[in-house]
Amino acid sequence: MAAPTPTQGAANAPSAALGLRDRHGRTATDLRVSLTDRCNLRCTYCMPEAGLPWLPKPELLTDEEVSRLVGIAVRDLGVTEVRFTGGEPLLRPGLVGIVAAAAALEPRPEISLTTNAIGLERLAGPLVEAGLDRVNVSLDTLDPGTFKELAKRDRLAATLRGIEGAAAAGLAPVKLNTVLMRGINDTEAPALLRFAIEHGYQLRFIEQMPLDAAGVWRRDEMVTAAEILEALRAEFDLVPDPAHRGSAPAETWLVDGGPAKVGVIGSVTRPFCGDCDRTRLTADGQVRNCLFARGETDLRELMRTGASDEAIGARWREAMWGKLPGHGIDDPSFLQPARPMSAIGG
Ligand code: SAM
Repeated sequence: MAAPTPTQGAANAPSAALGLRDRHGRTATDLRVSLTDRCNLRCTYCMPEAGLPWLPKPELLTDEEVSRLVGIAVRDLGVTEVRFTGGEPLLRPGLVGIVAAAAALEPRPEISLTTNAIGLERLAGPLVEAGLDRVNVSLDTLDPGTFKELAKRDRLAATLRGIEGAAAAGLAPVKLNTVLMRGINDTEAPALLRFAIEHGYQLRFIEQMPLDAAGVWRRDEMVTAAEILEALRAEFDLVPDPAHRGSAPAETWLVDGGPAKVGVIGSVTRPFCGDCDRTRLTADGQVRNCLFARGETDLRELMRTGASDEAIGARWREAMWGKLPGHGIDDPSFLQPARPMSAIGG
């Protein structure tokens, strides 16, 4: 795997007062922090069955380093939402403390977690107590055999227990994320929506993006937003949700007159880059200004060589200033990022 290149075109970032602006007029206020590149599942669209060469421990940010960077983002750079992800963030031993440190910040950011929910029934209570506000759980199938085929691990029951645990701990409404893969789970869209509605969960389908470790994604094999909606319409009445979408990636529909809703994130066929408000930090302290960025900006070395919060914030602002207008998946010259989703943080 080629090493990512440094972020390009970063010169002339505007003043600190404007936060994480880019030269196309967007401001990033939503920080995604990857806490580990490791995962206990091997979803085929994300990670090979044999795993990946994991980041060596000295390269990972320590809990204190993560909290320092989150603090800079919230206090100095205008970030208002912090989402912890991975890899699998529940595998990070210091997760509860990291959430507590984020919750102690002024102004207090919204704090959320993206997880496969394995072990969440045990951790949901402590996480809520530490300040976790919301959770998104990945659930691609309700069939144990399909789960095993897709994630290469027989863990559907553990995932379902985790989802129930999250709801019981007060993280309602639990949001569910589903990626459909042709010939594997693409017939399950209506069953997953029925399951979500029955339990009071909010379901969103995500188009599969070219972020697999093997680099075998093919656009003509991807299940599109249009196909997902067609499959759902065979069993449900869907009306566009009149609520304002804002920078949310999901287009939402009211199901059978509401209040139940379903979301579809058409990252590939209906991109929303013009409204993107994300900035990303990898588990080894690299800022990515886009999921699909080919470059990264190293904050870890800057921090470890004694840089001030101000200098780190300035480097972060430069990194965001160079963000491209769109992810370019449709461009013939598109190149998949050097790191897969599990290493960037989904
Ligand atoms: N392990 C956690 C989980 O399962 O939610 C967090 C990390 S995972 C990378 C975050 C999200 O990215 C999941 O909802 C997953 O389905 C999604 N994801 C991973 N690879 C993807 C791809 N190639 N296209 C679209 N979504 C993907």
